Amino acid sequence: MNITGNHFIAGREVAPQGNTFQAIAPATSQPLEGVFGDASHADADTALQAADDAFDALRLASVETRATFLETLADEILALGDALLERAHAETALPMARLTGERGRAMGQCKMFAGLLRDGSWAQASIDRAIPDRQPLPKPDVRKVLLPIGPVVVFGASNFPFAIGVVGTDTVCALAAGCPVVVKGHPAHPGTCEMLARAVYAALEKTGLPAGAFSVLYGKGNDIGVTLVKHPLTQAVAFTGSLRGGRALMDVAAARPQPIPFYGEMGSVNPVFVLPRALEQRAGKMAEGYVQSVNMGVGQFCTNPAVVVGLAGDGLKAFVEGAAAEAAKVSPASMLHRGICEAYEAGTAVWHTIDGLKLAGESSTAPQQEATQAPCRIFTTTVDVLENNEELRREVFGPCSIVTECASVEEMLRFARGLEGQLTAAIHGTEEDLREFAPLVRILERKVGRIIFNGFGTGIEPCPSMHHGGPYPAASHSFFTSIGTSAIYRFVRPVCYQGFPDEALPDALKNSGPAGAFRVVDGKLTSAAV
Ligand code: NAP
Repeated sequence: MNITGNHFIAGREVAPQGNTFQAIAPATSQPLEGVFGDASHADADTALQAADDAFDALRLASVETRATFLETLADEILALGDALLERAHAETALPMARLTGERGRAMGQCKMFAGLLRDGSWAQASIDRAIPDRQPLPKPDVRKVLLPIGPVVVFGASNFPFAIGVVGTDTVCALAAGCPVVVKGHPAHPGTCEMLARAVYAALEKTGLPAGAFSVLYGKGNDIGVTLVKHPLTQAVAFTGSLRGGRALMDVAAARPQPIPFYGEMGSVNPVFVLPRALEQRAGKMAEGYVQSVNMGVGQFCTNPAVVVGLAGDGLKAFVEGAAAEAAKVSPASMLHRGICEAYEAGTAVWHTIDGLKLAGESSTAPQQEATQAPCRIFTTTVDVLENNEELRREVFGPCSIVTECASVEEMLRFARGLEGQLTAAIHGTEEDLREFAPLVRILERKVGRIIFNGFGTGIEPCPSMHHGGPYPAASHSFFTSIGTSAIYRFVRPVCYQGFPDEALPDALKNSGPAGAFRVVDGKLTSAAV
């Protein structure tokens, strides 16, 4: 497919003007087809005006139309064929097998939200019928349902070009809810964004939904992103990326004359606690799984286990030796782009200067600079060093991690209490360990979005029970997930109707109700009509 570099505004292709850029293949450092450019303020305004104009047509379209749109989108993504995988592979250096799996996840998410819409219960309709003869005052008919909030601006991350990008969960669940979307295309994989944008328009057209429901604008640098967040028609922002970028845009959203919800999914160090009996029984096996997890996607996962914590002793020593031996076997691999690779080198270079932090093991092969490669690096230290050096408790994006020795259980618990908000934490232990370390679990419940027993946070299952988020700074709002069906709740708000005649109510609140959908009627959950 020819890559034009055009912005897509409500289905119209707009040639880039002003500053231009090309995608650079990280594995070869060569530019790729397509000259992209920074969108102007006028482009942002046109896209958001079109989104606002399309809002009613999208939100008032039948559930069946919106569900069919999502399923059609999954088909259109697949129809892009190998060309999509090849372009994403060239732009990100992610292996074809990983990209094939991630495309499946993106398509699965489309189908998952189609199913959610058809089921209907997600809208949390609640009905309290009138009691006209109640004494001393009559009770009015009061009904409540979740309705879409309006145009949503989406920023995808560089590390998931399909599942957290132009057609990722943020876009898909906003459109499912009935919210038009304007995406800020990621400058590291703009050609992939362009191909996926065509798939979205094909699906909108086939299902008779307005092209204004979707736009993709590019821009390198912060200007266009800030403009989109500030635009008065933007009603919410979904951001996946670095803490620095997320925090900057969160502050912009809060400083608007009308502050809007900003859902930022950012990074964390995802601590892993290795408990004594497990260390005694299977230190080597755990070290193997740990180094695999650290190197998944060249360490470019927000759930990367960047800190391991265990009690000093032979078990932890064996774990460190095992991890160092495994790290040596890891071949350096290309990172997503040069900026991320340089940040990784700079971040671990700072670590090398910290007293009390030692390199335990690293890839035995040297990385190739021109291929944007990063080696695996495993460090060791003690809790006090981690506690005294803030930079060690912040994400360095890439295949590095620190194994931390605690002198006592109390020290381990103190470290856990001092943690900032995290996306995940993992505990490796026996069930007896888990009983003994119940206070650790109680502490982690206050710190993280997901706690994993005998596993790692990498690899996320998009399902109704998933929670991918956590207290700040892991995410900007700890109540919401960006993955799984509950992600839709970021883009809806409750609207209450009092005294309305049945025919004037939204379908979800009519007496007949959507067939099979669960609603709370007079305080009781039921799928029966009123
Ligand atoms: P990033 O550099 O923060 O970029 C994300 C997007 O935000 C890009 O489009 C970027 O555009 C824009 N942006 C960043 N800072 C901005 C600012 N100050 N003003 C306006 N726009 C700004 O992140 P990334 O390198 O793509 O992704 C890696 C990061 O994402 C890691 O930290 C990783 O942990 C995190 N991540 C989190 C999750 C999660 O679910 N929590 C999932 C995946 C990745 P420009 O490049 O043009 O500035």
